[in-house]
Amino acid sequence: MSILNADLHCHSVVSDGTLTPEDLAARAAANGVELWSLTDHDEIGGQERAAAAARSHGMKYLTGVEISVTFAGQTVHIVGLGFDDEDERIRQGLSDTRGGRGERAVQIAAGLAQVGIHGAYEGALKFAGNPDLVSRTHFARFLVESGVCQDTSEVFRRFLTEGKPGYVPHLWASLGHAVRWITEAGGLAVIAHPARYRFTPTEEYALFTEFKAHGGTGVEVVTGSHTAAEYVTYAETAREFGLAASRGSDFHSPDESHTDLGQLPYLPGTLTPVWDLLADRIR
Ligand code: AMP
Ligand code: MN
Ligand code: MN
Ligand code: MN
Repeated sequence: MSILNADLHCHSVVSDGTLTPEDLAARAAANGVELWSLTDHDEIGGQERAAAAARSHGMKYLTGVEISVTFAGQTVHIVGLGFDDEDERIRQGLSDTRGGRGERAVQIAAGLAQVGIHGAYEGALKFAGNPDLVSRTHFARFLVESGVCQDTSEVFRRFLTEGKPGYVPHLWASLGHAVRWITEAGGLAVIAHPARYRFTPTEEYALFTEFKAHGGTGVEVVTGSHTAAEYVTYAETAREFGLAASRGSDFHSPDESHTDLGQLPYLPGTLTPVWDLLADRIR
């Protein structure tokens, strides 16, 4: 029987989610997820806990990560699935990718202080389950808590995106490095939520072409970050570039995420699910 309810994208307290790997596994299992992956940003410290929790619920598991990449001046996310989480090269690559986050957080706080929001560094850190992984999401939660904004989307809109006082440009991993860390550790690389980027058609074509050339395999078609129309668009892109398709909620928190684990539509039947290519990596 082939798997339909795979959810291969979500975040725990190890990055910018609010639930533990164990609570996420329980929630995924309760929602009928058959195959699950925890894909924390730039960090695989939750993998063993996630795999054990999945096993305790009788749910299949693939190792996962979401790597921050800079491509054509924008941040692109590459999801890695089914890699060996003890591989030294991916561990070092992710550690290097995380490395700049501390200084970046200091600069974000300095930008916010200039518009009268003080104590944001300490405030964000308080929300970060992992002090090595302070993300804009943690700043957003602090600004909601302190009453500056109603919700995290308002924080991003007013403070944390390009041109706004708490925005700090950052150089992440290169596309080639991220894809190779994943594939050389035995996994497959997937372009996360392609509709979220603001590329010109030429830049997007370059992203998909270079991704394939580096050994990338899949693209997220059905994700919590896409509209139904975008499922259709990126199903077509998957066919055009000969990519397998992935499905994932990108769940972060019961209070913030509009898409729960395991509740998205299934992949269009005409596409090759990326998990069909990872059968020997499923735990
Ligand atoms: P960072 O890796 O620190 O740049 O933070 C990126 C994270 O911020 C993403 O993974 C999302 O979880 C979150 N994020 C980005 N844009 C938005 C937005 N417009 N509204 C809410 N959360 C966002
Ligand atoms: Mn996130
Ligand atoms: Mn992402
Ligand atoms: Mn994500």
